[in-house]
Amino acid sequence: MVQVTSYGAAETVTGSCHLMKINSMRILIDCGMFQGNGGVEKNYEPFGFDVSKIDYLILTHAHLDHIGRVPKLLKDGFRGKIIATKPTKDIAKIMLLDSAKLLKEEYKILKRKARRCGDEESISEPLYSEKNVKELFERKWKTPEYYQEIKLGHHIVVSLGNAGHIMGSAFVMIDSMQENIPRRTVFSGDIGGKERLILDSADTLYKADTLFLESTYGDRNHKPLQESIQEFKDAIITTIQNNGNVIIPSFALERTQEILWILHEMYDEGELKNCHIFLDSPLAIKATKLYNKYPIHLIEAVEQRTNIQDPFSFEYLQTIQTRDESIMVNKCKEKAIIIAGSGMCNGGRIMHHLKHRLWDEKNAIIFVGYQVEGTLGRKIVDGEKSVKIYGEEIVCKAKVYTINGFSAHADQHDLIEWIRPVKNLKQLYLIHGEISKMDILSQEIKAKLNIEAHKMEYGVSVGF
Ligand SMILES: [Zn+2]
Ligand SMILES: [Zn+2]
Repeated sequence: MVQVTSYGAAETVTGSCHLMKINSMRILIDCGMFQGNGGVEKNYEPFGFDVSKIDYLILTHAHLDHIGRVPKLLKDGFRGKIIATKPTKDIAKIMLLDSAKLLKEEYKILKRKARRCGDEESISEPLYSEKNVKELFERKWKTPEYYQEIKLGHHIVVSLGNAGHIMGSAFVMIDSMQENIPRRTVFSGDIGGKERLILDSADTLYKADTLFLESTYGDRNHKPLQESIQEFKDAIITTIQNNGNVIIPSFALERTQEILWILHEMYDEGELKNCHIFLDSPLAIKATKLYNKYPIHLIEAVEQRTNIQDPFSFEYLQTIQTRDESIMVNKCKEKAIIIAGSGMCNGGRIMHHLKHRLWDEKNAIIFVGYQVEGTLGRKIVDGEKSVKIYGEEIVCKAKVYTINGFSAHADQHDLIEWIRPVKNLKQLYLIHGEISKMDILSQEIKAKLNIEAHKMEYGVSVGF
């Protein structure tokens, strides 16, 4: 009997954490952070299972909603083995160190505020520290290549396939014997779309008896990638020609490298003459270095360039590390392109750049990622006349562009096409999505493939 229980990304997108029991073995797939809309406190709650009994932790990829609680897992007594691809391990390290730093800063601010109203006790210690993260990477990890089989126990074998979502991302295939019949259970992790700009797209999955499928964009289809690239280029060219500046709020991982790749192409074609381009994010700079380290994971055009030069770097690009350097960028009055985080403008250096440039009608803000409700980014996208940034009211006069086609997630069509080649699928469970989106996706799956899809509920076990 195989039993799976979800302790995150069940009827919601974030907090991925699925516990699988095969005979006496316990395998945890992902251990991510809950993010946004009131979910953050959940990260501090104890895990709903006995952490010390987990034999293996398998990580699908290095986004925080899949790895963000791993240091807490270790702190709480996890002593099992960790399995992930090499790039996932490397990226996880920079993401978790950055996360620990942010948790510490947040804690200090909350503590200061609480002290003023005499409520210091109510503030919990940071979820984990940099020390906890370092300890995690001092442990022995197994870092297989795609399709390299790892034996976990008697008749239990795991292998990873390329999920085409971010560098190193994987879907997890677990083969076991149940009453002398071979059975394959697959966890999709996050699956990338068919059309990717710099990464190879997801491998085809041919075999699964039971599949746990992400459903983030189960309700919609994205705009074609090429159309979005053209929109992005046009927005930059128009702004630069009018002597304006372009601000691009961007996620450090994947999106920034895609933007740099397009800008590199524009530079080669002479479309960025006398333009200053700033990458103002130490985390994105580190992530970009890791993209260069594993060219084999990139599409051929990017990989070929990696052999000759750095595909994400070119003459006009300046990388900004220190706070002082970041402030210096404000002196650049025209023809500047500034890429900075956070991607949703809810913190980070982008806040300062917006404060200095959002009010000027010559400038443009280009959003290349989804803006969650309640974030500053969303307010600007929604067309608010003015916004508050660090206590100052800033008028929104810059032109706002929203480019929708750069998603790292498969859309409805891609998800259905990804499961179509799977022969004799016996059970399909939807995870990593909002309920309304899962409902739409399951209707489409039923209509197109005649397969029944079930929604995984938090803490409710399924067996097969
Ligand atoms: Zn992801
Ligand atoms: Zn995810």
